[in-house]
Amino acid sequence: MAQKIIVTGGAGYIGSHTTVALQDAGFDVIVLDNLINSSEKSLHGVEKITGIHPEFIHVDCTDRDATRNAFKKHSDAVGVIHFAGLKAVGESVEKPLMYYRNNLDSLINVLEMMREFNIPNIVFSSSATVYGNPDILPVTEETPLKPAQSPYGQTKVMGEEIIRDMVRATPTINATLLRYFNPIGAHPSGQIGENPRGIPNNLMPYITQTAIGMREQLSIFGDDYDTDDGFCVRDYIDVNDLARAHVAALRHMINGAHGANVFNLGTGHGVSVMEMVNAFESATGVKIKYKIAPRRPGDVPAIWADATHAKRVLGWSANTPLVDTLASAWRWQQNPDAKD
Ligand code: NAD
Ligand code: UDP
Repeated sequence: MAQKIIVTGGAGYIGSHTTVALQDAGFDVIVLDNLINSSEKSLHGVEKITGIHPEFIHVDCTDRDATRNAFKKHSDAVGVIHFAGLKAVGESVEKPLMYYRNNLDSLINVLEMMREFNIPNIVFSSSATVYGNPDILPVTEETPLKPAQSPYGQTKVMGEEIIRDMVRATPTINATLLRYFNPIGAHPSGQIGENPRGIPNNLMPYITQTAIGMREQLSIFGDDYDTDDGFCVRDYIDVNDLARAHVAALRHMINGAHGANVFNLGTGHGVSVMEMVNAFESATGVKIKYKIAPRRPGDVPAIWADATHAKRVLGWSANTPLVDTLASAWRWQQNPDAKD
């Protein structure tokens, strides 16, 4: 019998790619999602790739009774991957209570259900945002955390702390806290990818939507940063590599890792906004119209990961070349059938 994994937020961008990776690794995936920022089309996309449509339960994880029913049905699961959450930084500044309610209530409900039904392992989606504007680069897992810049970031800091406290009090439960850097790209098949609602906040979907003509031009936020070329620097990680890391994290716990362990998930390389634009153009042959715009409030000048801990402990590293990641993002953007 395949081992069962509950994936909250599994219809979303990273969740759908992780569902593919889990199924490829032989796990039986149960997706819990309220579809607030996704659609069931992504699960049809998963089925096109793997041949398996994961079981889908339409549930809002802030609804404790509904979450209990879903967990009760699958109380033989060996782990949970908790992606469910809202993630728009700007929106979280305008609607902080909505973010605290959604992201923290859903996490607490999931943890309570794990205790109630003796499900031993959780993987949590944290973020490089917990490092704020770091004093030293690259950042390791020991780099001191900075006060969060937004309610969204605060839900990640608090989420990590809630999980650590719970694991300390409940030795039968293990956790892996994964701090993602900047996930980009799509499945190479072009069947699943990132499909933001409205005007994208993030660089990659803004680039692909500009390339296809949905947006007139890209605004590059700031060209006068204290970096090599004056543009902001980030660590862009292929979403398929990121997905594989979740499988590695689960296996690590299933094989006996205890406590709450933290891993940076990045490539270990910083890439500037202008380098991304140039790389997209050479990967696809499509020109990106852009203008230089003022700095975006809250942006840190540069951050990238020291990803050696994940390599050493989980045996995982990001290995997709940037050119392939950009090509997959473009393939996905050009596939109208897979989107709403
Ligand atoms: P996403 O919005 O595509 O996926 C999140 C999914 O959770 C969506 O399908 C949404 O419908 C669902 N959801 C939200 N609230 C829910 C609730 N109360 N009950 C049930 N389902 C709910 O986002 P993503 O990019 O796939 O991100 C997944 C996780 O990774 C999030 O927790 C996010 O904060 C975190 N993360 C993302 C990034 C990034 O850049 N994409 C970076 C760091 C961390
Ligand atoms: N960025 C940009 N124009 C955009 C969106 C983003 O210049 O339309 C820049 C942004 O300033 C940052 C980088 O691209 O330096 C990555 O931004 P994103 O929002 O994708 O991720 P973040 O690192 O902020 O989480």
